[in-house]
Amino acid sequence: MKLTGKQLLGNTWSQKGQRTFQGLQASNGEAIETFFYEATTEEVDEAMRLAQQAFSPYRKLSNAKRAEFLLAISDELVALGDSLIHMACLETGLPEARITGERGRTTGQIKAFADFILGDWTREIHDPAQPERQPLPKPDLFQKNIPLGPTVVFGASNFPLAFSVAGGDTMSALAAGCPVVFKAHPAHPNTCEMVGYAIQQAAQKTGMPEGVFSMVHATSNDIGGYLVQHPICQALAFTGSFRGGKALYDLAVRRPIPIPVYAEMGSINPVVFMPEKLKNNAESLADACSQSVCLGVGQFCTNPGLLLILKENEDFLGMLAARLDQQALGTFLTPGIKKAFISACEHLSKQVGVQTLTSKAIPAPSLFSASTHTARKNSSILEEVFGPSTLAIIADDMEDLIAFIGDLPGQLTATLHGESQELQQNPDLIDALSQKVGRILLNGFPTGVEVSKAMVHGGPFPSTTDSRSTSVGTQAIYRFTRPICFQNFPSELIP
Ligand code: NAP
Repeated sequence: MKLTGKQLLGNTWSQKGQRTFQGLQASNGEAIETFFYEATTEEVDEAMRLAQQAFSPYRKLSNAKRAEFLLAISDELVALGDSLIHMACLETGLPEARITGERGRTTGQIKAFADFILGDWTREIHDPAQPERQPLPKPDLFQKNIPLGPTVVFGASNFPLAFSVAGGDTMSALAAGCPVVFKAHPAHPNTCEMVGYAIQQAAQKTGMPEGVFSMVHATSNDIGGYLVQHPICQALAFTGSFRGGKALYDLAVRRPIPIPVYAEMGSINPVVFMPEKLKNNAESLADACSQSVCLGVGQFCTNPGLLLILKENEDFLGMLAARLDQQALGTFLTPGIKKAFISACEHLSKQVGVQTLTSKAIPAPSLFSASTHTARKNSSILEEVFGPSTLAIIADDMEDLIAFIGDLPGQLTATLHGESQELQQNPDLIDALSQKVGRILLNGFPTGVEVSKAMVHGGPFPSTTDSRSTSVGTQAIYRFTRPICFQNFPSELIP
């Protein structure tokens, strides 16, 4: 397909702005052919107007018809063939096997949402009337979930397919009955346009109302802010950095009519290594941990960025540093992410009480260490480093370790490596971790998020802005619905 660099407004490709930017090849920073136009506020207004116009007919479609639309999106994505894979690899520097796998994950989650809405998904609750009840009769109450309305979605740079244009946020909103206006990610605009085209084709082929999906490009944060504050926007889904998510959240809650914001942001994902486990498995744990830290050049929101061990096990860190020194660095998603990685590693290495345990010059897979006392005094060392780096925090004893966990900010995941006996002897450890995270793993690593109905990919602030939800798995659909109660309605009148 020939790329246009234009905004996709319903069925129309629009170009009203004059300012342009280009996608870059991740490997060498060279510009890719197509010039992308920055959206204007008039184009955003048009995308939102179309979304509002589409909302009524779209929400009234049968679940079967909406499922047909979702499945057509999956087919159109596959029909883009190798050209989509090649473009995503070019723009992100991620290897072909990873992108091919990510396309499978993306189509898999689309199919999961299509299946889900074919079942009883609206959480209906019927509480029948009791006309004879004393002292007052009880009314007939029927509750169900209905869609919120036009939703704005921002994707992240590190999953150009699974957390981008046709990713879980867009698909869960569309499955719920909400039209979507997507803000394309400037780190992979060409990939975004290809996927946007696939959604437009699917919408037309399955007879969806125009405006069910639109996409705008922008490198200026002003357009992102304008989208979020647009009076037609009824919900926001964001995947990306804490800085971006919090800025958009602040704008959304200060609107005259605030809206729900589901911002999935960064996390340092604490991993606890217990003494008995380390005694029996140090070598294999060092191997697996170094691989997890470097997976996808460390550019995962589930990257194990914080290792927690007791002072008596400090030797393990030498073994881990040696493994990390053997790992190759890989290509960063963008020059900006590489620069941010270098500056974050340099910041860590200069902090009082922080030791650099790996030996290669920055940028390289890196391991730093510090005591709990240092981390309590200087919380800046606990900020997410987006890339292949991890910080080991050394606790005096189990009591110190549990107290330290109690002071941690919210996280997407926590992991425990322990033998059954030592885990059973420390119930407070599991309890302390459970209070901080959306997912807790035993004897594994957090990179890799299964798409499943039981998955929770979320967590307390600042990992997300709403810990009651997940952005992965079919339960993600409920972020874009609200409950409504029909009192004394005969069933034939309930929509
Ligand atoms: P990002 O820089 O925050 O970008 C995400 C999107 O938000 C982009 O379209 C970006 O556009 C926009 N944006 C950022 N700040 C904005 C602002 N102040 N106003 C308006 N728009 C704004 O994040 P990223 O670099 O793509 O992704 C890396 C981060 O995402 C990491 O922290 C990672 O942990 C996190 N992540 C989280 C999850 C999760 O599920 N929790 C999944 C994947 C990644 P511009 O680039 O034009 O600013």
